[in-house]
Order: sequence, then structure tokens, then C-alpha cells
Amino acid sequence: SLIITDECINCDVCEPECPNEAISQGDEIYEIDPDKCTECVGHYDEPQCQQVCPVDCIPFDENNRESKEQLIFKYEKLTGNT
Ligand code: SF4
Ligand code: SF4
Repeated sequence: SLIITDECINCDVCEPECPNEAISQGDEIYEIDPDKCTECVGHYDEPQCQQVCPVDCIPFDENNRESKEQLIFKYEKLTGNT
């Protein structure tokens, strides 16, 4: 999944772009639910949140790298599409 770093300025631009509703406002900054983030696999070629963030604070989470197969599986589980 992707992760939002503490450089987030709470601009709210990314939240409506997420096709999986994985982004929400946390206590201090916006957060990504790793169980819902498919890195946009199944929906878009590129992570949509990364595309729109004005301060580039949404990198890939190096502690949670997933294979394409794992991401597709998550997409199918979330949407019921196979
Ligand atoms: Fe949502 Fe895609 Fe960003 Fe993951 S990469 S949080 S699925 S917009
Ligand atoms: Fe934070 Fe970037 Fe999302 Fe704006 S677009 S709320 S700065 S993560």
C-alpha cells in the first residue's frame, strides 16, 4: 500500500480521488487504510492520491510492499469483481 507521511498539510485533495475509500482524516493528518489500498490496481494505472497530492507526501510504504498478484486479490475481495 501507500502511506501518508507527516508532511501532509491536510488539504483533503486525495481523499475523494481514492477508488477504494481507503483514505480518511486521522487525528493529525490524513491516513491510508492498508487493507483497502490496492495502489489503485484494478482501477487506474497510477496511484491517484500520489498524482494529486500537492506536497508529494504519499510514497509507497517500504514496510508493506505487495506483489501485483496480492494487489489484484485485494481488489477482487474489496469489489467482488473477479
Ligand atoms: Fe487509494 Fe489508490 Fe491512493 Fe491506495 S494508491 S490510497 S487505492 S488512491
Ligand atoms: Fe495530505 Fe497530500 Fe492528501 Fe493533501 S493530498 S490531505 S497533503 S496526503
